[in-house]
Amino acid sequence: MSKIHTISGVIDSEDIGWTLSHEHLVSGMGGMDRIGLYDEKEALRRCNEALQVAHGAQIRTIIDCTPVDLGRQVSAFQSLSSSSPINIIAATGLYRWVPLSYYSWDPDTVAHFFQREIEEGIEGTAIHAGIIKIAWDVEYSSTVGGPNSMQAQLEKCARGAARAAKRSGVPITCHTRAIDKVGIRLLDIFEDEGIDLGAVTIGHTNDSPDINYVLDLAKRGANVGLDRFTKTMNEEELIRRSKIALALIEAGYSGQTSLGHDSAAYSINRGPASGGPRIENSECWLPVPNFEIPWLRDKGVDEGSIDSMMIKSVQRTFEAAHSMKL
Ligand SMILES: [Zn+2]
Repeated sequence: MSKIHTISGVIDSEDIGWTLSHEHLVSGMGGMDRIGLYDEKEALRRCNEALQVAHGAQIRTIIDCTPVDLGRQVSAFQSLSSSSPINIIAATGLYRWVPLSYYSWDPDTVAHFFQREIEEGIEGTAIHAGIIKIAWDVEYSSTVGGPNSMQAQLEKCARGAARAAKRSGVPITCHTRAIDKVGIRLLDIFEDEGIDLGAVTIGHTNDSPDINYVLDLAKRGANVGLDRFTKTMNEEELIRRSKIALALIEAGYSGQTSLGHDSAAYSINRGPASGGPRIENSECWLPVPNFEIPWLRDKGVDEGSIDSMMIKSVQRTFEAAHSMKL
């Protein structure tokens, strides 16, 4: 058992219930609230509705993987902390593009700023981050070069994330570009930093067409985030992704497989051409409980394995992180 910070206070890892491992309440860009791109009243309305709908589908905890540069809104967390029927775990860390301000820092300085949001709270509030998010996408593989390349900066920030995880005892969740198999290099760095790979989720892995890559991550002890599963995908694609979950279960890794959608209740990213938030979707967190889980049951997966994916895999990341705390 370990303690987990949610936006409404501390809970026991025992009590997380069915958990979606990678979602967003509100997303966009850092500072969007100050330049007229963010409507908090509308955002809260959409979040509250989507949370109620997800709660009705047995979801009890959501990990919000939105660091400050992806438009995290701590004021929205403050409002939702009393209205949400679901536990919400907030993230510190960074999104894909390392800000220039970080370029001259060493990994310990990066770690310090992540730790501050975990240990002291976010932006002067009582809300503590419960997880560290980093993101390696197309920039990682396409910017090879010296110390000022994005690749070198992303690697440095991964080291910072590892050190903060070890010092604060919280897990790391990684957005990855699965097609480039960057999860392997991430695990190499985390191993080199001496952290327990059980505290690491390599996310968006169900984007991968290569089941051997997926299984290799699990074999190394990491948690595999099959956390892209959206209503915009057609049924054939949803089944392809569900088969990855089935393969992990059959290989004995249900306790190292977590599910999610990577869906936002309110986002200004990929919105309409005329601006404003993306079209409303209060059912954004339903495809896992309403499609993937029934599909897996249909293939003979038992409730123990379902709970293993929906609860134990995520618990394990928090517990592994807690045990390595310095
Ligand atoms: Zn995401």
